[in-house]
Amino acid sequence: MNNAGLDKSLLSQLSTQPRVRDFLARAVAQGRTSHAYLFLGAPGSGKLDAAWALAQALLCENRASSGVGGESGASPSPACGTCDHCQRVSRHTHPDVHYLAPESATGYLIAQTRELLEDVALAPIRAKRKVYIIDRAEQLRANTANALLKTLEEPPATVTFILLGTNADSMLPTIVSRCQCVPFRALSTHEAVKAVERATGLPAQRCRMAFSVAGSSARAIEFLKSADRQEARRSVVRAVDMLAHSDEADILATTKELMLTIHAPLAEVESTQKAILEQNQDYLSRGALKQLEDRNKRELSARERSGIMEALASVRSLLRDVLVQLEGAQSELVNEDVADVVERMCARTTTAGVLHALDAVKTAEWRIARNVTPQLAIEVMLFDIRKAL
Ligand SMILES: [Zn+2]
Repeated sequence: MNNAGLDKSLLSQLSTQPRVRDFLARAVAQGRTSHAYLFLGAPGSGKLDAAWALAQALLCENRASSGVGGESGASPSPACGTCDHCQRVSRHTHPDVHYLAPESATGYLIAQTRELLEDVALAPIRAKRKVYIIDRAEQLRANTANALLKTLEEPPATVTFILLGTNADSMLPTIVSRCQCVPFRALSTHEAVKAVERATGLPAQRCRMAFSVAGSSARAIEFLKSADRQEARRSVVRAVDMLAHSDEADILATTKELMLTIHAPLAEVESTQKAILEQNQDYLSRGALKQLEDRNKRELSARERSGIMEALASVRSLLRDVLVQLEGAQSELVNEDVADVVERMCARTTTAGVLHALDAVKTAEWRIARNVTPQLAIEVMLFDIRKAL
């Protein structure tokens, strides 16, 4: 049995990647962590979870006293999971852990790298160290990456970079060579869903649906915690269900309502941002506060985008269930909670119709990635799906 402290650390929860977990835990426990890591693996393999877990282990203030895991077979778990730093990291509100994702459809902005470099030079705010998690590092293109290279090679002693990428071949070699690469094994859907079940304690059915909508275990766990995001998915399923009886005006009105439900979860993000801003008001200079506000704005628009993508994924998941049923496959429904909708749709459409409808979803995603207004893209998609089914 582990003691309670060990159970609470994020690193000890990394059960789908035991080798990565043990490797990182050992490095932290021995004080031999690298200044820059590159986590490599397929989407959904748990890279982001591992990055937050490593950040927690690096910042924990009780690290020394919790020591290396007790009994034989237990992995070393250097974070206590309960101190102020550990809790803030697990809530994603620690001011010394920075998460970055590309802020435009084409990749990282030059302004983002510039901001990052300015921030790296500043001392940590609360902890003794700072951690930068750089998601989808393949989208660091030459123009944005060059400025970063020197810092990646020799960051200040208190800074750790954790870059996340799918595979080394799609990344700038100059970046790969400056990082310690950590390979993540690909998880099967079954394993990924199991991880969601373990983390949430919810029935397999709901976890499977959440995974198909959210696309990775980490995001599925968040999805299941958010009533607003689940409501957005239900609304979009309802909208597709009603298409058969909708005229043009109905579809326009439905889309407008859908946009409101999709945007609802943003209120929570905004209030978290506001709280973090208030917490840090006394620590940060005016310039740094301005930067934080700019970053918040961009985070909000990235969240808006991912909410819309989640709505589209909900439609796709529903249509796939219809397809599977029409083809007579014996597999279980992913969207079992709306089995009545699937049944109704099966009764009035054909395989060819569903395939066309799936194309309409793909086209909507493509349009949104190319900056077509989401509302317009979704409207057109609903019209196309109505025609297809
Ligand atoms: Zn701690």
